[in-house]
Amino acid sequence: MTSARLPSLDRLLQAAACAPLAQRYGRTALLKTLRDLLDELREPARHGRLAALELSEAVLAGRAGERLARRHASRVRRVFNLTGTVLHTNLGRALLPEEAVEAICRAARHPLNLEFDLATGKRGDRDDLIEGVIRELTGAEAVTVVNNNAAAVLLTLNSLGARREGIISRGELIEIGGAFRIPDIMARAGVKLVEVGTTNRTHPRDYRDAIGPRTGLVMRVHASNYSIQGFTASVPTAELAGIAHAHGLPLLEDLGSGSLVDLSRWGLPAEPTVQQALADGADIVTFSGDKLLGGPQAGLIVGRRELIRRIKRNPLKRALRVDKLTLAALEAVLGLYRDPDRLAERLTSLRLLARPQPDIRAQAECLAPPLADVLGAAWQVAAADAPGMIGSGSQPLARLPSAALRLCPLLPRRLRGRALCRLEEALRGLPIPVLGRLADDALWLDLRQLDDEPAFLAQLAQLRADLE
Ligand SMILES: *Cc1c(COP(=O)(O)O)cnc(C)c1O
Repeated sequence: MTSARLPSLDRLLQAAACAPLAQRYGRTALLKTLRDLLDELREPARHGRLAALELSEAVLAGRAGERLARRHASRVRRVFNLTGTVLHTNLGRALLPEEAVEAICRAARHPLNLEFDLATGKRGDRDDLIEGVIRELTGAEAVTVVNNNAAAVLLTLNSLGARREGIISRGELIEIGGAFRIPDIMARAGVKLVEVGTTNRTHPRDYRDAIGPRTGLVMRVHASNYSIQGFTASVPTAELAGIAHAHGLPLLEDLGSGSLVDLSRWGLPAEPTVQQALADGADIVTFSGDKLLGGPQAGLIVGRRELIRRIKRNPLKRALRVDKLTLAALEAVLGLYRDPDRLAERLTSLRLLARPQPDIRAQAECLAPPLADVLGAAWQVAAADAPGMIGSGSQPLARLPSAALRLCPLLPRRLRGRALCRLEEALRGLPIPVLGRLADDALWLDLRQLDDEPAFLAQLAQLRADLE
């Protein structure tokens, strides 16, 4: 092997092969990358361990180009969510409808009346932009919006119950995940937790007996991500509101997902609606913007005017408020609810949730042959019925009848795990990563959410290369 000399940084920078890199990534980034590369090669070059070809300008520029592409690639990546969980918290929850996407672009590009009252020419309140439509849809007296529902719960508790006692059933002391636990949130909000009842049964008298001079509020939390079944009892919202009001206390209801429409209309499991909670007497209701509502991440706080006024006066509100992009998207999404008859066509998340199983099954039948072709004889690829989930803690026990591509390695049982892991990794490594679900010795690609078939199919050739 002939030993070769390293080109100088200057010469390399001037090389024709580097011109497109400077153009694309900028001279500063290119300079740093080339310098790092040359530093790394100095030792091996001195010991004659590199061939001339490895030090040619073209090869070095190629290596620099790969590094720059890797470093500058976006870390925020689009993926195919074929997990079967529609509102997947780790994958960004609700997909926004086109109306909301357009509203976000408009709000991003142009100045807007975020806190400016165009009627009076005076300073305005950002909540006013969506208050009208939320009041119209829910019947609430007033509204405020914050960063997410966790913030909504924290702000509400702190505003209405700080230094006082908050009464809640032991059956509702839940953890949502991501360290959101009701007892911890209460403590951070400065509310002294008073637990009543038992895990499975809480009665009206449990609440009545706990109410005293230091009580500030009564709280109810929708136990979204788990279910208590069997010998159970809880106090309906209407009755609990009666107990709270008899003592001059507000009832807060954290609905979690909440919904503005009766989902059973589309064959989905019914979730409590915001309207019903308010009609039953809850004084404040909190819920998420990006769960069943199908909008951007946000926490909505709706209810009595006087209480909302106190919540908005809390200095924490300023720390938890939403930005203009969220408000723009939220307004657009809420607007779609004005026409419930067309909601399932226009609201992306509802369209996906309501997608009929035969439709998904047909898609699976169509896609099975091309995928089988790519995976080769070592894999069995079949269209199969699959149980999907709403996700985000909504109806944890309910299954959405769906359909999937079921990928099964044709190997002795003890070798299957390794093969499945490799396939899962290869799918995850695609330009648009494909995320499925491992279960029962197979990888399941639930197709409820596969709306871009051409992009999915176009990647398959690369999968073949990755598996070889
Ligand atoms: C999801 C959920 C929350 C947290 O809402 P985020 O919007 O994720 O902050 C709070 N309470 C309940 C009951 C929930 O289901």
